[in-house]
Order: sequence, then structure tokens, then C-alpha cells
Amino acid sequence: MSERLLKGIGVSPGIAIAPAVAVRWTLPEVPHHVVSRSQVEKEVRRLRAAVRDVKRHIEEVRARAAERAGPDEARIFDAQLLMLEDEDFLAGAEDLIRENHLTAEKAFEFKALEVRDLWTATGSTRLKDRLADLNGVTIRVVRHLMHRSEDDDWEQITEPSIVVTKELGPGLTVQLDREHVVGLLSEEGTRTSHAAILAHSMGMPAVMGCAGALEKIPPGTVLVLDGTRGTVLLDPTPAEITDAQGREQRRRALAAQLEEVVAQPSVTADGVRIVLMGNVDLPDEIKAAQAHRAAGVGLLRTEFLITSHSTLPTEDEQAAYFRRVGEAFPNLPVVIRTYDLGGDKLPPPFRVSWEANPQLGWRAIRVCLDEPAIFHAQVRAALRAAAHADIRLMIPLVTRIDEVERTRAIVAEEGDRLAQSGAQAARTLPVGVMVETPAAAVMADRLAAISDFLSVGTNDLTQYTLVVDRGNARLAERFTPHDPSVIRLLKMVADAGRAAGKPASVCGEMASEPLLAFLLIGLGYETLSVAPPALPLVKWTVRQISAAQARAAAESALAARTADEVLDILRLTLADAVDLKLLDPDARLPAGRRAASLNV
Ligand code: PEP
Ligand code: MG
Repeated sequence: MSERLLKGIGVSPGIAIAPAVAVRWTLPEVPHHVVSRSQVEKEVRRLRAAVRDVKRHIEEVRARAAERAGPDEARIFDAQLLMLEDEDFLAGAEDLIRENHLTAEKAFEFKALEVRDLWTATGSTRLKDRLADLNGVTIRVVRHLMHRSEDDDWEQITEPSIVVTKELGPGLTVQLDREHVVGLLSEEGTRTSHAAILAHSMGMPAVMGCAGALEKIPPGTVLVLDGTRGTVLLDPTPAEITDAQGREQRRRALAAQLEEVVAQPSVTADGVRIVLMGNVDLPDEIKAAQAHRAAGVGLLRTEFLITSHSTLPTEDEQAAYFRRVGEAFPNLPVVIRTYDLGGDKLPPPFRVSWEANPQLGWRAIRVCLDEPAIFHAQVRAALRAAAHADIRLMIPLVTRIDEVERTRAIVAEEGDRLAQSGAQAARTLPVGVMVETPAAAVMADRLAAISDFLSVGTNDLTQYTLVVDRGNARLAERFTPHDPSVIRLLKMVADAGRAAGKPASVCGEMASEPLLAFLLIGLGYETLSVAPPALPLVKWTVRQISAAQARAAAESALAARTADEVLDILRLTLADAVDLKLLDPDARLPAGRRAASLNV
């Protein structure tokens, strides 16, 4: 069984059962010819023409993506278009033609390799995601120059199939014929890959980060791809197929059941109200958060305002967007997270110099405080929107007290300035701290004293506590936000908030997972901000459990030695209240143990 079961990262839920088709979206072998001096300018013109043609083609693909997946998703092609408009890049390729007499295709390939090496060396997830874009652009331009654009393998798919590939670029994902392609599997990629975002919004089950998939899966092999569990089963028996179909049916039945829960109050069986807010990364998610009755936005990520554009957004653009989100949730809070740039979020208009360890480098609040023009504009935009809605501000990646003090001073200064100028703006707004480093968790009492609220970013808190790169597929097993070390920090933060009389909430992905949301409630968190699609399931869980039971489970979990022990405790406790299989498809109760034996 074990050779038949491959494990990856489930990035888009659902089950697909179909034969595999290998799609090798690869660069053709480019022969190493040299051109004569008289041919050089002709090669340069050929390169320019190819870039122009490919750009036009990507614009067409972009329009198709807009139709299929929506305008925001289509914007991911902007990164590829930007690369084709990058004059430095093109001038570099032209220099290679002029100086070394290379053919247009060889020059483009070399230049792309140079950039690839540079980006790989940074180790940044955001640049790794952009490598897929760079690769896609290179393949297209080189194939075009070699007149090979016709052999795009995916166009040959005519039967229901699961596409197996090394790297899934957004270009490939969106061009796949949805009538016939029923699932996606790739060797590389993480949850944050552009293609993962697209697959999710297209509702296509997908597994990424599945090492060796192309080699282990001969074309034509029937697969059961489970995008919820992140697994792929080769050559399933009839019984295994029936089992998979049963799982998919249960998943759908639960989704239907959950729709009913959306209108009901978010209260535990013993009467504790849990406030469920939504995380919004892209404007499209506002609708999903509203439809699922989010009690406001607990995390408004602002980086998207930059990542898909070639220039920084203006103060007016930001103010309009913040106001739009605020007004979408009347009388409810909207928490704007100030730019979390750098690290794995490096947008094209914001060039920074190379860093050996970007996750430990110039990131988030450090960037904002060093770039006053950018930061002040964002603070002003938030104050202006706060004249129309309940807007709050929170600061990512805080590690020091002075970062909060300096931000508050900027808010005060801009509040005064706006008031003096007579602009329509709030005089001030609540400023909170994102607790996403061990330093901030340990200092939570001090940070609570000088801020209005705390919000735990468990994605980064886990990354920095366990020293596990959150975007590294190879380390995915080690990325355990329920590790006893992380939950002890979470407890410290909840206690510090309560002692200071300042609300503490959680906005990392951990809050979107029902089993872990149960743990967070037990640790004392009464406000969770979750991914909009997860809102119904989390609310349903809240309504099944009691806060007393959650507190008892959390107490046992705090005394556990390992992350696995914590999971066992949570599963055993919840098993009494909830059908665990619905919440957590991997759930297996430890043999012979009952909840009662754990005293919960
Ligand atoms: C987090 O780190 O948990 C978080 C919510 O912020 P982001 O995922 O954007 O880094
Ligand atoms: Mg974070």
C-alpha cells in the first residue's frame, strides 16, 4: 500500500478519480548555434518580435482566466506580463546576442537562468512562486522562437484526466480544459503558489509538493487524488474507489449541512459566544466573508494592493479600498494589517537588495518604519477610511516595544495633520500588535499595556518558534502549530491580554482548522479570524462543543510532550461531541483509549 500512496500538500479540497496524464511543461533543448556578425541585429529583432507575440498570447490567456476564475485571479498573469516588459531583462538578453553572437532563444534562456539562480539563492517563498512565472515565460518565448508552440501537451487531453506535472504555473492551470481535467498533481509548490490559489477558486481538487510524482506515476495509471488530505492513491482497488467516493459524499453532505449553520449564532453548547471574523486577502473574498456572516474582518492583508501591480498604490486608492471593505461590514470592525512586505512577500515595484535570510531580514514593520513615505501614506489612508467605518490597524512581525510606540506616534501625527487640513478622517484609531514571533509572545504583557489589542499570527509564530520555513514542502510535516511549545506561547498571550483587559484573538490559519479552533477556545481565545470558506465549518464546531470541555482539553494539551500527543488529546475529547471524520478526515482515535481516561 505504501508505494501506492503518495503524500503531498492538499491545496484545493475534493476528490478526483481518473487516469494520470503527464504534462511536461518544459523547456525544449536549445541548440548552441552562433550567429554571424551580420545576423546579430536580425536576432535582436526576432527576440523583440517573439516577446511581443508571447505578450499578446498571455493577454489572451489572462482574458480567459478573467472569464473562468474572475478578475482578481486573472491578475496573477500580471507578473508574467511585467517580466516581458522588463527592459533591464530584455536589454540583458540583447547584450548576450550582440556580445556573444548567441541566437535569440539561447540568449533568452541564459538570461532567464541567470535570474533564476539569483532568485533561488534568496530562499524566499515569494520568489519561488515567481520562479514558476519566470519559467512559464521562458518556456513560452523559447518555444515560440523555435516554432514549437504547437506541441502544448495539455491540449491533447480529451478524456477525464488528472494532470501530473513537475511545476504548475498559473498559465498551465487556467488553460486546462475543465471538462476533461478533473484534478491536479504537481511535484513542486505550496499552498501559497499562484496555481494553488487558482485551483482553489476554480474548485478543482489539487495536491502539490508531491516529490517524485512524475517518475512514480506511469501515464494512464488510475489515481484517487484527495485534495483535502493531500494524498494520491495509485491503482486503487474497487473497494478503495468506493471508500473514496464515500468520503467525497460525506464532504458534500457536510457542506450542505453547514450552509444552514451560517445564519445561527456562534455560541458554544455551554453558552460562550465565540466571535468569528474573516481574513480577507483579495477583494473577491469580501463577498464570501459576507455570505458566511463574518463578524467583521480580523485580518485585512494589504500586500495584494502591491503584488499584482507595477506601482505602489496611492493613498487615495488605499483609502477607497479600506472604506469599501469597512462599509461592506457595517457596525463591525475591520482590522487592517499594515504592509507585511519583504520576507516571502516581495512585490515587483518594491525592489530590495539581496538578503541571505529574508524571513529573518528586512520585513513587515521594519520595512514600514524605514520607509516613512510608504508607511505614512498607509496610516493616512486608514485614518481617512476610519471616518466612515470601524477601522483598526495592526502591526505585523513586532519584536520590540519601540516598533509599537513609533507606529502610535505616526498615527497621532497623521491624525493631527489630517484634522488641521480639514480632511474627512478619524482623529485616531485602535492600534493592535500581531503576535507572530516568540519575542512578542514572551513580551505580550508589555505589548498589551501599550496597544489596544493583540492578534496572534500563528503561521509565523509556528515558523519562528519551530524554525520551520512555512513555505517549504519538504518540512511540511514539521509545521505543527499545535506543538506544545507554540501552545504554551499562545496561552501566555491569551493570559496577558486578559490581565491587561485587552482583547486577544487569533488570525493565523490554525483558527480555520476546527480541531485547532477547539484548542484555541480552550486556551482562552473568544475571537478567531478565519479564511472565509472555513467559516461555516468552524461555526458548526463551535456550536457542537462546550467551552468547559475545550478548557479541560487545553489544560491536558499544555502538559503534553509532543504535537502528536496534543492531537490525540483533542481528538479524544472531541470524539464525544462531534463526528470526527467530518472535521478531520485523518482522524484516528488512539486504540483502547477513551476520553474519560484523560480526565477531560
Ligand atoms: C500569520 O503569520 O499567521 C499571519 C496571519 O500572517 P501571514 O500569513 O500573512 O504572514
Ligand atoms: Mg504573518
